[in-house]
Order: sequence, then C-alpha cells, then structure tokens
Amino acid sequence: MTLFSLFLALTSFSLSLSFHTVDSFSLHRTRTVSVSPLISKSRTALFFSPDDHQSNAPPVQPRRSIVAGNWKLNPATLTEATTLLRLLKANFENHRDASSATEVVVFPPFPFLGVAVQELQGTGIQVGCQTIGTHEQGAFTGEVAPSMIQSMGVTYVMLGHSERRTLFGESDTAVNNKLQLCLAQRGLQVILCVGETLQEYETNLLASVVDVQLKKALVGVSSQDVLERIVVAYEPVWAIGTGKTATPSQAQAAHEAVRATLTALYGSHVAQGVRIQYGGSVTPDNIDALMAQPDVDGALVGGASLTADSFTRIVDGGIRAASATSSAYAPPPVELTATEVVPCANVLGESPVWSVRDQALYWISAPEGELWTWKYHGDNNQHNRNEPPYRRLIGTTLGCTALLEGEPHAVLLAGESAFMKMTMKADSGDFASSSSCTATNFLCERPEQDQATRPNDGRVDRQQRMVFGMYNNYHREGSSAGENNCGLYRLDANLQLESLLDYKYRVSNCICFPASGDTIFFCDTPTRKVYAFDYPVLTNRREIWTMPSEWPGGPDGAQVDADGCIWMALSGAHRVVRVNPDTGHMDFVVHLPVSSPTSCTFGGPNLDELFITTRKPDGGGLFRVKMPFGIRGLPEPEFRVNNNNNNNLVGQEQTTTQPTAAAVAVSSDNVMQEEGNANVQPAAGNTAATYASMAAAYKQMTNNGQ
Ligand code: PEP
Repeated sequence: MTLFSLFLALTSFSLSLSFHTVDSFSLHRTRTVSVSPLISKSRTALFFSPDDHQSNAPPVQPRRSIVAGNWKLNPATLTEATTLLRLLKANFENHRDASSATEVVVFPPFPFLGVAVQELQGTGIQVGCQTIGTHEQGAFTGEVAPSMIQSMGVTYVMLGHSERRTLFGESDTAVNNKLQLCLAQRGLQVILCVGETLQEYETNLLASVVDVQLKKALVGVSSQDVLERIVVAYEPVWAIGTGKTATPSQAQAAHEAVRATLTALYGSHVAQGVRIQYGGSVTPDNIDALMAQPDVDGALVGGASLTADSFTRIVDGGIRAASATSSAYAPPPVELTATEVVPCANVLGESPVWSVRDQALYWISAPEGELWTWKYHGDNNQHNRNEPPYRRLIGTTLGCTALLEGEPHAVLLAGESAFMKMTMKADSGDFASSSSCTATNFLCERPEQDQATRPNDGRVDRQQRMVFGMYNNYHREGSSAGENNCGLYRLDANLQLESLLDYKYRVSNCICFPASGDTIFFCDTPTRKVYAFDYPVLTNRREIWTMPSEWPGGPDGAQVDADGCIWMALSGAHRVVRVNPDTGHMDFVVHLPVSSPTSCTFGGPNLDELFITTRKPDGGGLFRVKMPFGIRGLPEPEFRVNNNNNNNLVGQEQTTTQPTAAAVAVSSDNVMQEEGNANVQPAAGNTAATYASMAAAYKQMTNNGQ
C-alpha cells in the first residue's frame, strides 16, 4: 500500500462514520446529600457526649451552613434596592443549584421587604428583617409586629445587632422579649447577635460577655426552639464595619465560647446542633479561611452584601473554600461518565470549539492535519436529526483551531508553519471548490520559525484575539533539543503577534478564559501545575492546581464554565476534572473508557454538554457527557480580523499579507480538501510534494506513537 493509498483509505473512512446520540449522562454520586457539592458544607457535629449516650439522644444532624446579608440602612431608594435584588436573583439563578445546602438570607430595610420577597422568588434566597417591635398589635405607633412581616413571606428576624444595642439602647431584656414574640409566630426564625466591644476583648472579657448576652436573651426559650429556630451570630463589635476581621483562630475561639454557654444551658447535644455565624467585615477574600474553622457555620455580612457579586462569591466561594481547605469537610467529587458520540479515530484529537453561530463543533486531529466538524442538534434529538461528522484534510500538522468572525463555518487554523482560515461547510461544495490556501487562506506566519516548535493549545480571548502556546517537537523524546523553548503568544486583529510570557516552557496547555476575561489559565504540561495569571498583561501568577501525583499523564486542553471553574482533560489519566480556581477544590470527575482525553469544551443547543476529544493508542473518538446541576459553558469568542486585513477573509481571492517561502511550503502545497467520505483528491495545482510532505508528517506521527 502506497502512502497515498493509505491516505485514501483513511479518508474514505470518514463518510461511513456513524455517530451515537446516546444519552451519555451517567451520574454516580458518592455521597448521599442531594445537593451540589460546590455549595454544601456539612459541619461535623455528629458525635455523642457522655450525657447523650445516657439519654439515648439521637445523633446531632450536620449543621447546615448559613450566609446572611445585612443591608442596614441601604440602599437609598426602592429602585436601587430592586436593582440589587435583580442582580442577586440573576447570580443565584445562573450559578446555584436550587437545592443548595447553604441557606442564604438577605435582610433589607423594612420598606423593601415586599419587593425583596417578590424579586427573590425561585432563587432559594430567604428574606429577613433587621429588627422587630415589642408588641404583636395595638396602639404602638411606628412599630412592626412579627405577624405582619411573616404574612409578607419574611422568614427571619435579626435580633440584638450591636448597632441596635449601642445606637438604640436595646437591652438584653428587650432582645429576649422580641425573641419570645418571634418564636410565638410559627414559621419565623431568628438570628441572634452577640459580641464584645474592643475594650472587652482586650480585657479578656469575650467569653463572659457573650455568656451573659446569650443567657439573658434565651431566658424561657426551649431547647427545641434553640436547636431548630435560632442561629447565633457572633459579631465582635470592633470588627463590624471597620475592615478589621477577627482572625480565623480568634473566630474559632469565640465560637467555642458561644457553644460552651449553649452547652451549659441546653447540653452538648443541643449546643452541637446550633449554627453559629461569624460577622464583622467578612469579604470574598477572608471568607474562605473563616469558613474553614470547624465551629464557623456561616457568615453575617454587612457591607459586602450590598454588592451582588461579592455577596454571591461569599456564599459560593466561601463554602467551596471551606470544603477545599479543610479536608475533613471536602466532599468527594461528583463522578460522571462520558460516552463516545463520534468514533472518529483521531490520532490526536484536540482543540474542540463549539460555535453558537453554526450550532456545530469543530476540532482537529493534530498530526494528521485534519479539521473536523459536526453539526449537533442536541442529545434529545433522534439520530437522524444530528448530521454526519465531516473532516477536511489540511495537509500540515495543526496545533489548534478557533472560530473566525465573519461568514458561517469560518475557522482559524494554527498550522505547523502558518495561521490559516478555512470554511467548513459540511453541506456545501466548498471542499471541492477552493484549490489552495496560498492566496485565500494564509493569514500570517507562526512565531518561532527558527525553533523546533509548533503552535499547540490556544483559545480566543474575550477581546477576540487568539492566544496560543507552542509545543516543543522533542517533548515526547524528553526535550533533548531546546528544553524550554516555547513562548505564549497573542495574535491580534491586525495579525500582529505579541509575546506574553517572560519565561519559556515546553508544552502549552489549559489556555482558557473565564467570562470576565481578566484571567488566563495556563499549564506547561510536563510540570503538571496549572496557573492563573491576571490578563491581558500576564502578572500575578498563582498556582491553582497540581495534578495528583498518583495519576499518570498531564493536564491537556481545558475550558472554563459559566461558574468560572476550569474543566481539564488529563491526558493519560482517563479523566476530565473540574477544579475551582479560587480554592483548588476538584469537585467533578468525568471518567472515560480511554486513557487520554486531550481537550474539552461545552456545546449543544444549551451549552450544557461537555465534548471531549481523545487520542490514540486506545482512544481517538469524540466523547460527550451531559452536565448536571445546571452547569453550562460560555459561548466561544470568535477571532476578529480587522477590515484592512479582510482581503484575506475566507473565500476571497486577494491577499495583501504575503506568506513567506517557509509558510507557503506548508500551507500552499499541502492543502487537500475532502467532503464527507469522498475520496481524498489532491487540490488542483498540488504537486507530488504535497503527498510527500503529508506522508512525511504521517510517518513522523506514527513513529512518535501519537
Ligand atoms: C453587620 O452589619 O452585621 C456586619 C458584620 O457588617 P460588616 O460586614 O460591614 O462589618
């Protein structure tokens, strides 16, 4: 068999490809809590005290974490309040599972309670009021009764806040009266605030101050009400609104003091079940460490609750961080299984990108120089609704592909020597019509022409520029030539290249961007460490995850979801994992029956399916898994080429950017087209050099065992 006939055989294989739209959503949970592990936090209160054993008391249930936002006398108008509520609603609708294990409550001023209840419907966020009157009804001008707010849909009342105590002279007795009134109203719960002043703290009076406050506030309150309807908020007065936060160990010590008083009053069984929040200048930056303390069950947030995003992050990030930083509380990851949907047998599938515009997936097989597309209409459709996958043989090793702004099915290709553009219309005659990429397809040379490197992983950033890294060609042989010789680059709309990193590496991977566009993720695969950098200027490098030492292989391509978490294909490890870049917590694992997933992206009509490319020797197919818990991807940005470079756009004949000889040698001579399973035909004008070059590439690829 000649090499050419080998290519023909390989090519003719494509039309006969069938695909499976099987429902590959296979979900195995390894724990019993029916909530997303992202946002659950089970405090380990499951123990018996000696008393409990004697009384045969049931084990205390894990304490459900609770985050509350105290808006105080803010914002100024109903319009502003409504805006804040709508932003919160959007955040919690988009980012959270309705059955969240974390209880969330906001405490707006009285006039905004009605709109809060209304706006937050369906989000799972409860509404509370910041204080209450001392009577149920009658001639008490200006007062508000528990029955009134409860009838509006308010479920919490905050009592004993230090500002009420100090600014409005609220005594412990008044707090107790109000507490009794609230408990008389079925369905109302109470956040009871206690805490010492700075002077009291400095004179070691913390424990006795909270002891007295609790004992006076809880006079006549049953153990059942304490356990089921009261949350204690420990708020050191010196930390409220001051920007000074208790250190995590200070908070833990104070919470232990609170629990000691509760134990003295109600026994350890009750005390271990009561939730204790910390309050005092809580922000997204300090919540993680606070929540990692075993007796900190949540946060009462003032200033930071007035910004929807910071409050949301305190709820989400804090809980995730608590899971990650305290191994005792880290829930095991959710386990999913991906199923093959296109048996494309790629030698090295890579770089999947989903086009919302085209409702199609594009990916490449790197050493074969193949560009693939599959118009996919979703997992609920019958097989015949999804169209057959198509491939196009480009004739040069490819690093990655990206969507190209402009006409449908236009893509950018990072080739071994040059950047090119293509259209990939599966249902048109386009494959047969264009003859060469010289004039119409060449965009610019790739960088490092003098190095034994080629473009590798890449994605378009949120400003529609192409960011890509390189691959040391000797990497598989231990990088004897060049060692760290690869840079990270950005190609802009004027086709100008910019070097982004001030150091070199061997194999770029994991390049992806969260929705904000202000961060880039990156991994030099051999190091197995994944980094985040501030973006667009790459500063503030921080390690977000290191692949567990017991897993073989390394991180490969990655994609970010709408929650900002990063899904990484772990080539060699049979897995794709999701990691929260803020906490390093790995909370999802997608298992594959093949060893080397190579990259992944979200696609499908709802962007809620994860498509995974794989490689040989045991893989090569395209895999898919449906996302649970409302997890979704972000629309993939399209690379933009400025108008003055548009004469190079796909399908046009003219070019102003002339390829160099080196680029032409690859991009012009080696282009072949293919439609469906049609036999590969050399494009008009192609020469024997085409096949020689392709054959060499194929030989190298098989030699390398890729
Ligand atoms: C509060 O009002 O209870 C509070 C803790 O405020 P801040 O978070 O602004 O300190």
